[in-house]
Amino acid sequence: METINHRAEKGLILAGQSHVHKITPRTTAAQLYKVLSEKNKDTWYNVIEKSSGEVTCDCEDFKQRNSICKHQWAVIFSETQTSDDLKAYAFVRAGVQV
Ligand SMILES: [Zn+2]
Repeated sequence: METINHRAEKGLILAGQSHVHKITPRTTAAQLYKVLSEKNKDTWYNVIEKSSGEVTCDCEDFKQRNSICKHQWAVIFSETQTSDDLKAYAFVRAGVQV
């Protein structure tokens, strides 16, 4: 749980710095978000939320762990307005990985 909280914390920071850009989709099949890398200011990661609910990121952390990375947390935080929304969102997404 500690690693999840650690990533969520970093995601919250990224979202607070407006380092998440929502890209208007061409189709409704998927929603793309561009999230700025923490370390490399020239690198943007693609977080994709499919209409099926599946969420992916093209960073190494997600590729290796296949679990919520800080970029996905950044999207979660940037999209949620209330703490109830946030909890529901986090629960659903975390539940997918269990
Ligand atoms: Zn990522």
